[in-house]
This record gives sequence, C-alpha cells and structure tokens, in this order.
Amino acid sequence: MKLVLATGNKGKLREFRQMCHDEVTAFSEILGDMEIIEDGDTFAQNALIKARTIYERLGEEYLVISDDSGISLPVLGGAPGIYSARYAGEEASDKDNLYKLIDAVKAKGLKETPAYYTAAIAIVSKYGEYVVHGWMHGKVIDEARGDKGFGYDPMFIPAGFDKTLGELDDDVKSKISHRGKALALAKPIIRMLKRK
Ligand code: IMP
Repeated sequence: MKLVLATGNKGKLREFRQMCHDEVTAFSEILGDMEIIEDGDTFAQNALIKARTIYERLGEEYLVISDDSGISLPVLGGAPGIYSARYAGEEASDKDNLYKLIDAVKAKGLKETPAYYTAAIAIVSKYGEYVVHGWMHGKVIDEARGDKGFGYDPMFIPAGFDKTLGELDDDVKSKISHRGKALALAKPIIRMLKRK
C-alpha cells in the first residue's frame, strides 16, 4: 500500500517528511489541486473528512493519512482552534493569521498568555479508519520572533523553553510537537496496516 498525505500545507508536508522514514507522497502530486470542504466541528472530524475524500478518489491500494491541527487560546475561549487556517479570512496567509492572533492578544492587554496546539491524524485504508491526537502546551507572546516553522510558530513558546518555535530548530520541534506526538501513535498503526 502506498502512503499518501492528504494535505496541501507545505509546512505540514515538510514536517511529515522529516519525521517519517517511509516515503510520503502529497495527494496533490497524484491528483493535482483539489479543494476539500472541512465542515466538521472537531479536529478529528475534519481530519477524517480529508483522509476519506482522498482515499475515495485514489482507491484501495492507498493508505491515506491526514492532519487537522490548530492553536487554541483559553483567554479567547479556545479560538482560533479548528478555524486556525482561516482565522483572518478564507484567503488569509499564514502571516495574516499570525498577526491577527498577535493583535487579539494585545487587545486583551496581555504580553503573553497560555496556548496549546492540537493535531488529529486520521488514517484511512481498506482496513478501516483510525484517529489519534497529540498536543503541545506552552504560551503565546505579543510579537513574532524567528522565521523557522510555519503558521503561528513565531509567537509560540513551548513549555520548558524560552524561545519561540520560530527560533528553535525543526528537529527540536518534531520531538515535542503536537504533530510529532500524534505521529508517534500513528506509526505503529501504519506499520500494522502495511503488513496486512
Ligand atoms: P488545517 O490545514 O486545516 O489543519 O489548518 C492548520 C492550521 O493550523 C495551519 O494553517 C496553521 O495556521 C495552524 N497550525 C497547525 N499546526 C501548526 C504548527 O505546527 N505550527 C504553526 N501553526 C500550525
């Protein structure tokens, strides 16, 4: 079975390729660009929507994995959460979203506030569906520092560190990240399915 990643997000694809020893193909390399409507209410539902859509297009020889993820701030009632990719609007760039969240933190009169990332990874194949989760806790600050990572990373300081993910190396992030933790749970499932 061929492993395909149901994401068009370059930051996620880079991280999956770095963390997976298996060869991971992006669905767009096979199917071209395709819009998937993510209308679930949770990270898990949206991850399943993405993986099922691509699996249905590709067929039984494929094992499709997807990641739905985002950042949540308790001070904002959990926002942006599942809307992280479109926080500043449907066509928003990562930078637009980042600076909108910085403005929201400033608007609360805060220099920093607790935050956490969630990742749900869905695995869909002819043998059925699985979903696993990972979280990374820390805080966000009222400015962007560094240009590593992607998305909200320049404003996020993981618990136990004093630098943002924009300043820390990718291999540090992959050991502690929501995506790294979810992938550690997904890997034995993927191995088991590939052996069937
Ligand atoms: P999705 O592609 O619908 O799952 O949206 C994920 C969005 O959440 C991304 O566009 C980022 O804004 C944010 N996000 C998820 N994971 C990360 C991360 O590891 N670093 C920074 N931003 C992230």
